[in-house]
Amino acid sequence: MGNAKERVITKMGNVTFEQLAKMEPKLLELEKIILNYKRKDGCINRVWYGQGGVKEKMSDLVGNYRIRYGGPRVLNDHVGYDVAYRHLYDSLPNCETECEDCVVG
Ligand SMILES: [Zn+2]
Repeated sequence: MGNAKERVITKMGNVTFEQLAKMEPKLLELEKIILNYKRKDGCINRVWYGQGGVKEKMSDLVGNYRIRYGGPRVLNDHVGYDVAYRHLYDSLPNCETECEDCVVG
């Protein structure tokens, strides 16, 4: 995980997160959730992995589980998914070591 607030640039193959976000602007809403994350919102791991979390929402927008099929192929396959996943995940702040949510699982 990278430092919060620091916008990372992610590129794999020939596509960047920026390019994906132009094809599917809702990806920027997910990035915003992460960049605006505050500790009081709860465990960052739950924000990411939890039900209705960022990872789940991301899967609806990019990759093989994209709900609204269509658009450029890269949005609908694993390359786009990997780029979006890495970009958003790398934008996450670290969870605190003593986080109760993480300890509980
Ligand atoms: Zn935690």
